[in-house]
Amino acid sequence: MRQKFKCTKCGLCCMNIQNVELAKDLDDGTGVCRYFERKSKLCTIYESRPEICNVEKGYKFFENTMSYDEYIELNYKICKELRRNKK
Ligand code: SF4
Repeated sequence: MRQKFKCTKCGLCCMNIQNVELAKDLDDGTGVCRYFERKSKLCTIYESRPEICNVEKGYKFFENTMSYDEYIELNYKICKELRRNKK
């Protein structure tokens, strides 16, 4: 079975979409997704969020460039960088 990405629900990825080409339509103009609720740090359209926002489903956009495990590792790496840059 494929490993699942363990999301900590920090919300940082939803607050830093300015460089994500596939999510550019979601940007409220400040790099934060228009569907992100800052207070709760939750997605207001979670059940119907775009596939690019779902790590496992989003692999289909990258499957021609890397293996699934490499893709998951890359997601962890980006997550770690976002947390480090926040400090
Ligand atoms: S649609 Fe939801 S999961 Fe996707 S970036 Fe926006 S707030 Fe985050």
